[in-house]
This record gives sequence, structure tokens and C-alpha cells, in this order.
Amino acid sequence: NCTVLDGRRVASEWISELSVQASQLTRLMGRQPGLAVILAGRRPDSMLYVARKQEACQKVGIFSELISLSEDILQTDFEAEVKRVCNQEHVDGVLIQLPLPRHLDENALLESLDPGKDVDGFHPLNMGRLLMRGRSSCLVPCTPLGCLELLKRCGISVRGRNCVVVGDSNVVGTPLAVMLRDHGAAAVTVCHRISYTEWFEDQFKVEAMRSSAAACLPLLPGPHSPGHDRLMQRLEGGDQPSPDAGLQANRLPEITRTADILVVAIGHPELIKADWVKPGAIVVDVGINVVPPSTSLTPSYLERPASSTLSEVEQPGPSTPNAALRSRPFLPFDNTDEEFKDLSVVMKPGSYQVVGDVDFEDVRKVASALTPVPGGVGPMTIAAVLHNTMEAAKQAFNRRS
Ligand code: NAD
Repeated sequence: NCTVLDGRRVASEWISELSVQASQLTRLMGRQPGLAVILAGRRPDSMLYVARKQEACQKVGIFSELISLSEDILQTDFEAEVKRVCNQEHVDGVLIQLPLPRHLDENALLESLDPGKDVDGFHPLNMGRLLMRGRSSCLVPCTPLGCLELLKRCGISVRGRNCVVVGDSNVVGTPLAVMLRDHGAAAVTVCHRISYTEWFEDQFKVEAMRSSAAACLPLLPGPHSPGHDRLMQRLEGGDQPSPDAGLQANRLPEITRTADILVVAIGHPELIKADWVKPGAIVVDVGINVVPPSTSLTPSYLERPASSTLSEVEQPGPSTPNAALRSRPFLPFDNTDEEFKDLSVVMKPGSYQVVGDVDFEDVRKVASALTPVPGGVGPMTIAAVLHNTMEAAKQAFNRRS
């Protein structure tokens, strides 16, 4: 009897509380708290997320503003725009919608944000403060905050628990590990690709790229990711395997089985199975993977370049046998959204399904609590953006008065 942790319900409770706070703040400040979202280009998924954030702001009573920049904007112009937006009095929080067009330097742009208005918590000053013990009055990344708030509001304490975080990105895994530490976890273990036969997977992909680059693009890390660059380097450098490298064991299950609280944020559809989970564990699935409804790769999909827009992804055709390590391929998709019904705006209905990094039906047989995808961490992330905007407004107000 596994409890499903209902992120939609909990997020809507949180949002109701935030509405009350927003009206109090509005009275105090003489204006609504304000959030500005900067978007470069017109990626349909990013536009969808931005729209969701704006709708959420409206619901709560936060003024929201969208700054839409052209896809080919110069780095210097983008930085100037970030500075201009951050200098606006009526804007308490600013976020840059990721991913950015490839020619832009994401780190430099995040550093050009005012740390006091950085509601995503990605500025190095906020990340650094988070890392240091006893420096907690900073803006912290929204997805980890959403995960912790979900646990807290479901009556689950982290204190004294053995926690395992799978995934070490700056956006989710790394800040979450630090936050679990600060919430009193007995121990926090962070796993990443290397825990999961990294070399073997990469070598598989390199071989696949060598044989037919177009066909395996969907299996590869997106063109903007460090993983992709690493693979390209291996491919171009003619990297050869050492004889036993591909035989390294997958260490991940033995590590995940030690977790009282297991959080997974990797972007690998349904990787975590029941026998990777300690009976009675609490499992938080952050992953959002948009996969075709069938479990096989399809010719029409395989022929798409990785940069295809979502609107171009079509209904899968007849299935083909393939030697992929994954039973389910995943579509390149940047997810920070809570509701997927609107995906039909950008993808043909019936041409996709959304799954997590955890095999929900399998893992619910052993876990004591589990978050669903969708409807788990996603809605909590949106609520956390609103929470952080209000935090930023409160901190600025306190500094002024
Ligand atoms: P990322 O690609 O930046 O990082 C992925 C991490 O997972 C890396 O640390 C990598 O080493 C690790 N990893 C990848 N494959 C692995 C494997 N097989 N075994 C072990 N480790 C592995 O991704 P991210 O931005 O952290 O996002 C992770 C997932 O969470 C994605 O599915 C993303 O869509 C989702 N996400 C959801 C929300 C939300 O609001 N619910 C927010 C952000 C991200």
C-alpha cells in the first residue's frame, strides 16, 4: 500500500497560501510583487512553460511581464537586457527561460542577473551561499525546493534518513543534495552517469553515431548538453575502448537500495525498477520524459534531426526492431511544466506520453510513498517560482524599510 504523493493537490494548497501572502505584500508595498521572464526565441515548449508561469502569477496576484527576445540576439544585447530588467523597481524576480539558443553563453547570462532577484537560484552567489552552512537566506532553485516542500506537506521528514539523489545537475540534483543535508538527512549520496556504467552507455552511443548518425540522434544527449560535446569529442578523437571498460557493473541499484528517501532526476525514462528500491522507501521522481506511446523506435521519428520542434514530432509509424539499450527512446524536450494536457498545442494528441525516471507501476509495489509523473514534482516547481518571487519581494522590502 504505497501512498501516491499528489503534487497537484499540495501545490494548489501552497498556491492558496501564497495568494494570501501576495495580497498582504501588495498592501505593504503599495504594488503587486512582480516577476519578469526573459525568453529568447520561440521554442514551443519554452513558450508553454512561460505561459504556465504567467497564468500561475495571475492566479496568485503577482504582476508578470514577458520579455521576448529574438532567437539570434547577441550576447552583449542579452546581458544589457537582463541588467535593464533587473533594474526595474516593480520587478522583484527575474528568470531567464532555459535552454537558450546555442550561440549564447548561459553561465555569463545567469551571472548578469541581480542575485537578489534571481528567482531560479542559479546565480553562482546564490548557489555558493546555499552550499555554505549557515548562509541560508538566499534564493534556492525551484525544483529542489518543490521536492522538499512536497515531502514536508505530506508529513514526511528528512531528518535522520539516508537519502540518495540520482542526478547531479546544477538545476536539480546538486542543490537538492545540499538542501537535504540542511534539512537534517543522516547522509546524502549523489549518483550520476558514472554510477550507471557510464562508459558502456557512451561507447554504445559512439558506435551508434559512427554507424548512422541520423538514426541515433534521439538517443543522444541534446545538442546543447555537455554530454553531447563529450560524445562528439570521443567520436572525433577516435577514442578506443579498453578491453574490460564496457563490462563495468551498473553500481546504481546497489546504491539506490540503501535509500530511505530516493530522489531521481536524470531524464532517463523509467530507469528505476522495483528491485532498485528498498522496501518501504519514499521515492521522488523528478524526471519528465516525453516518449512515444509505443515502446519501439519508429522510422518517422528516427529520421527527425534532434533540433526538430515538437510540432514536427509525428504519430509513430510501424515499430522497428532496434538494439537500443533503452526500451523507450525519449524525445528532446525541456520540461519544467506541471500540466501536460496542453502539449497537444505543440504535439499531435496521441503521439506522445509523459513518463518519469521511475517505473511507477513497478516501484509502487515496494515503495511506501511515490510521486507520479505528471502531477508530482512539476506543479510544485511552478509554486516554488511564485514562492521565490515573493521571497525576493519580501527581502527587498525589508532591505528598504
Ligand atoms: P541534466 O541532463 O542536466 O542532468 C542529468 C543528470 O542525470 C546528470 O547528473 C547525469 O549524470 C545523470 N544521469 C543521466 N543518466 C543517468 C543514468 N542512467 N544513471 C545515473 N545518472 C544518470 O538534467 P536535469 O535538468 O537535472 O533534469 C533531469 C530530469 O528532471 C529531466 O527529465 C528533466 O526534464 C526533469 N526536470 C523536471 C523538473 C520538474 O519540474 N519536474 C524540473 C527540472 C528538470
